[in-house]
Amino acid sequence: MNIVDVLNELWTTILDVTAIFVMPDWTFLISLLPIIVLVGLVGPYLTGLVLGTGAYLVTKPRVKVAFEEGPRVAEIGPGGEAVFPVGLPHCRRDSLVYPSGTLRCERCHDELAVICPMCSLGRSALIDTCSNCGLVLKVVPRAVAVRSTAGPKPGGAAVA
Ligand SMILES: [Zn+2]
Ligand SMILES: [Zn+2]
Repeated sequence: MNIVDVLNELWTTILDVTAIFVMPDWTFLISLLPIIVLVGLVGPYLTGLVLGTGAYLVTKPRVKVAFEEGPRVAEIGPGGEAVFPVGLPHCRRDSLVYPSGTLRCERCHDELAVICPMCSLGRSALIDTCSNCGLVLKVVPRAVAVRSTAGPKPGGAAVA
């Protein structure tokens, strides 16, 4: 056996090995081509969709919390006086409107006032029943705090 035979044998072996690996690979890849194209086209769309949804979920709650927490400045009416929304606690001194359930002003620590939604009569936010029309302003989240801090209410003792 001379060196040429060895080289020929080696070359044949290399071709056989390459054939085994290359031929199935190509047919396999070609059969996968529609899937690759599909992933290439749909992938970026799905990634954008997921990123967009994630960004939406991350930014949305922050906006909601910022909207619901803390007082906001009351709107100024045409006469230059602060206009307070009906049924929400507010401080006349600082012209601040508080979320439902707030009892005292964060700035001056004074009792907040509330305007009755039914008869438009102003009263203290500590009293949940209108003395004029009897409408009860339900404050669910801080109902316990209202009960403990507020004094004896007319009608409250009769119910209990
Ligand atoms: Zn105040
Ligand atoms: Zn009323």
